[in-house]
Amino acid sequence: MKRTFGALAAMAAGALCLVPAGGARPAAATASNAMNQPQAPFQIADNLYYVGMSDVTSYLVVTRDGYILIDGGFDTSAPAILKHIRALGFDPRRVKYLLNSHAHYDHAGGLAALKVATGATMTASAPDTPVLEAGGTNDFALKFSFPPVKVDRIVKDGETVSLGGVPITAHVTAGHTKGCTTWTLPVTIDGKLEHVLFLCSLSVLSEYRLIGDPNYPTQAADYEKSFATLKGLPCDVFLASHGTFFDLKRKLAKLQAGAKPNPFIDPGGCRAFLAKAEAAFDQRLAQCKADPACGKREDQ
Ligand SMILES: [Zn+2]
Repeated sequence: MKRTFGALAAMAAGALCLVPAGGARPAAATASNAMNQPQAPFQIADNLYYVGMSDVTSYLVVTRDGYILIDGGFDTSAPAILKHIRALGFDPRRVKYLLNSHAHYDHAGGLAALKVATGATMTASAPDTPVLEAGGTNDFALKFSFPPVKVDRIVKDGETVSLGGVPITAHVTAGHTKGCTTWTLPVTIDGKLEHVLFLCSLSVLSEYRLIGDPNYPTQAADYEKSFATLKGLPCDVFLASHGTFFDLKRKLAKLQAGAKPNPFIDPGGCRAFLAKAEAAFDQRLAQCKADPACGKREDQ
């Protein structure tokens, strides 16, 4: 019980994206369950909807020519995501692009089933593509696998995917995975233009070595580049791959209570999260520089 509570507390603090290393399987399962609870879909902006689970997120961008779906949750999340899309009155077969934040089992697990159900073009960054196509079995650090999904379109850093006149732009913010992708999108809320940032993840998992990892020699430099990139991107509406990163529950409660302006407009919260994540990274990097056993895995 103690370990389970620790895992949940760490997630609540937004410190981790996945369960901690060395976590017993039952704790891992409990933590996954906690992130994968039912969540009614809701509208965030004029053409942007939340269709994900309680903590692992999915978003639907609606355009006149069809929809863009970001992230697929766990493999067990896919039926709920489809149900959420239908509940909002949208037809999943009109999803034209399926995007991914990163190739981890809690965000990519449902993509294979969602691709079959929608017929969408699976779109990802080049470095995460082989991991998506191998279902995570070739990940540089993690051992959690998921149903493999074939990538149809590879996007470069800075490349825009456009549908029905709506542009969504990929920014490779690597470190958490080699191709971790933050997406940006202009939206309208209450008649005003706002810039959405869908943050990939900046969590430094306990399996990560940061420096000297033969499987990922540039990891620390990639994180540092990502912090610089993210600090330069507009972030009016702060969203991310996990609800805990942007305080989903509290903001949704405020939205449902009729708060104005829309509580998801939170540039200050976005900047504060980036600062907190960078401080956590700096601390871990200092630890790893001092202790060569930092993040060492059984196979190394
Ligand atoms: Zn992750």
